Amino acid sequence: MKKTLPLNPGSDLGMMGGGQLGRMFAVEAAYMGYHVTVLEPGKNPPAAEVSLHHIEKGYTDAEGLQMLASRCAAVSTEFENVPAQALDTLAKDCFVAPPGRAVGFAQDRNAEKAFIEYEAKVPVAPNCAILHAEDIDKVDVSLLPGILKTARLGYDGKGQVTVTTIEELKEAFESLNRVECILEKRLKLHREVSVIVARGANGQTATFPVCENRHSRGILAQTVMPARVPEQTATQARAYATQIINALQYVGVLCIEFFVLEDGSVVANEMAPRPHNSGHATIDACWSNQFEQQLRCMTGQPLADTTQHSPAVMLNLLGDIWFDGETYRDPDWQSVLAVPGVKLHLYGKAQARRARKMGHITCLGKTLEEALKRAKTVAEILNLPEPN
Ligand code: ADP
Ligand code: MG
Repeated sequence: MKKTLPLNPGSDLGMMGGGQLGRMFAVEAAYMGYHVTVLEPGKNPPAAEVSLHHIEKGYTDAEGLQMLASRCAAVSTEFENVPAQALDTLAKDCFVAPPGRAVGFAQDRNAEKAFIEYEAKVPVAPNCAILHAEDIDKVDVSLLPGILKTARLGYDGKGQVTVTTIEELKEAFESLNRVECILEKRLKLHREVSVIVARGANGQTATFPVCENRHSRGILAQTVMPARVPEQTATQARAYATQIINALQYVGVLCIEFFVLEDGSVVANEMAPRPHNSGHATIDACWSNQFEQQLRCMTGQPLADTTQHSPAVMLNLLGDIWFDGETYRDPDWQSVLAVPGVKLHLYGKAQARRARKMGHITCLGKTLEEALKRAKTVAEILNLPEPN
């Protein structure tokens, strides 16, 4: 039988997916006395090591979902491509946050952009859907130069082609195997930022301070928190994030990526229906963090205070730092850990591979300058892109 909210400490909580986001959630849950069960088909996933149970079944496996639903009073997800149908199945027996409908929007860039622009009334880059080759003939050339993105399953810059002419757009659509796409006008970006926003079951909302993000080879490399943008820009981004989460009637943690343009205006880019890599600094830099917030949302508890207590620079650790040329060896952790203000997070993945997210480091300081200086020292030791 469905339990009523709030779910108190001691309750069992389920997580769809056993990656690093599930792992960090499980650690927070353990701090607060909740027990976590992870559903994930892979063997020994990062989250299983710190969870009470691991159901080693597929995300749509009826038996697996049944086991999860019977054990847990509430279920959340750590990846956006969780089948919305699986969430709907679970919702019959337990509280599911976020709801399948909202997760569905985040799985299709066309639906997502339309929702943000027309339902949430938040600006996005000019765009049009390219579902069939014929759609290309109707393209407004003011969208060029643009970026053609696959509507589904794109991440870390994968499934994207920059196009400057209609001819190139045709070629790009072919190169993406004619799957459903969106064409977006390429904007001149001044900064990329993101907002981690949460909405509780009773409609209460909270945002963490704005994150400023830098990517390297399409993958998030660095987040500076708080973002170095004017107060007004930060307030606008947080307000837009709140507008979007309210329009979605969402319950849970949502990350919205924004572009800040040269004139200071803010446009929404995409959303992730879960905690996000760019929000990891909240763990060490804020009074609460995005995973605690996820837990509070799914259990119907009051939202946590999102105040930031220390300026922070988060550096992602990819598998590349385990390689010295062709030699596989441990990074120089001892030197890293000797830097003051450094918090090391590793996700417990057995094998480092190039471009694989293995962990992150948050560098704290009394000032942002100090945090940045420490991040530069760490980056030099580990041979990471230079923070700035
Ligand atoms: P992903 O799912 O791969 O993160 P994004 O839509 O966030 O896809 O695009 C990846 C990156 O490409 C962005 O972080 C940004 O740097 C760049 N980008 C995406 N869309 C635009 C755009 N319309 N104009 C300029 N740059 C863009
Ligand atoms: Mg992105």
